[in-house]
Amino acid sequence: MSIPKTYHLVTLGCPKNDVDSEHLERMLTGGRLEPVDEPSAADAIIVNTCGFIEQSQAESMETVHELAAGKREGQQLIVAGCMTQLYGNQVRQDVPLIDHVFGAGEWQQVAKLLSVDVDAVFDIPETAARVDGPSAYLKISDGCDAPCTFCVIPKIKGKLRSAPAGLLLREARRLVDAGAKELVLVAQDTTAWGEDLGMPAASGLPGLLRMLDESLGGETWLRLMYAYPSRVSAELIETMAELPGVVPYLDVPLQHGSVATLRRMKRPRDLEKVHGFVEHLRRVMPDVVLRTSVIAGFPGETEAEFEELVQFARAIEFDHLGVFTYSKQQWTEADGHDDHLPDEVKHERRDRLMTVQQAISARRTQRFVGRKLEMLVEGLGETDDGEPVVAGRTYREAPEVDGVVVAMGVAEPGTKVEVEITAASEYDLFGEIA
Ligand code: SF4
Repeated sequence: MSIPKTYHLVTLGCPKNDVDSEHLERMLTGGRLEPVDEPSAADAIIVNTCGFIEQSQAESMETVHELAAGKREGQQLIVAGCMTQLYGNQVRQDVPLIDHVFGAGEWQQVAKLLSVDVDAVFDIPETAARVDGPSAYLKISDGCDAPCTFCVIPKIKGKLRSAPAGLLLREARRLVDAGAKELVLVAQDTTAWGEDLGMPAASGLPGLLRMLDESLGGETWLRLMYAYPSRVSAELIETMAELPGVVPYLDVPLQHGSVATLRRMKRPRDLEKVHGFVEHLRRVMPDVVLRTSVIAGFPGETEAEFEELVQFARAIEFDHLGVFTYSKQQWTEADGHDDHLPDEVKHERRDRLMTVQQAISARRTQRFVGRKLEMLVEGLGETDDGEPVVAGRTYREAPEVDGVVVAMGVAEPGTKVEVEITAASEYDLFGEIA
């Protein structure tokens, strides 16, 4: 087989996978392979799969089947990532046209297989983040030590491994020099950063934020995703409020609002603490935007427990709330429970909570009407009447998961402009460049 010169990489799943793919791409391009847009033009087709829940596994399998069906003679099809970490043998059996299977984190092996001299490009860190327009992800750690009974991530990714601060500072600088105006800090649990490096529980992240903000001069937006509820400390909140670059936005996946359900999930269940930190966040940052995600239809969830979740969402009034239906996952404790709920019940509960949240989100967005916000421009367009518009995000919207802002006017993508907000829907804001 000749030495591959081109590759086509497909990435599925979450931002952490985007970062892993970026790491692989930097090794491949460092080894002088060229990326191509069309799989048919590639010597090697690589799929970075997602194995988080059944739905994402199905999407990964569909992609692999499609690529295998279009594979031509001499091409290599390589499948790697979370799904193959769990089901590598099965995937290989289901799709015989696959040439190579790798697990999660085996990116150096993939590069070596494609004749990259990995030692020569070795200083490429696994925290390499991805610039997507003017935003980039910075993966500050990988793996997770939490015992959540529905989650297979610890089995896929292993134990917590934090990236050293010096490496993160270097990577952050590289991304900003490459044009990033916003760094989105991601991990399985960002608030655990540093615990495996010997730092006391929940104390590492505030220090890391200080170092990043100082080194970037307070200009770059720093956004925190995936905080673990019991680690949202007073120190973290005060640090967020104090640092000019850290946007007043926090994503804390809470998973449920019933103590009984949280107990079965083996999640932090001190809801008083949650109310306490939400109050603290809103006191020191009155404009703070809160995002959470929850699971509807966890095994054994009674109607009363679900109603507690609805009341919890009503009481806190999150700006953004994602509802997932519980999905069975092999190798998790919850999979062995004998009180799984029918899909109709799970879906009906999800829809009910989404309806409640829609009204809350609409109220939360209305408070921005009449105000001026800084907006990061991501794209240009025009209205049906040919008037120029720009699309982008303010501190209120995280990339890929929240809404967008559309404003009348002209501005260069990658710049920050002031926008006067004139209208709002449940999820999006509308305005004019001021
Ligand atoms: S904290 Fe998140 S990644 Fe870790 S086990 Fe729980 S749900 Fe999974």
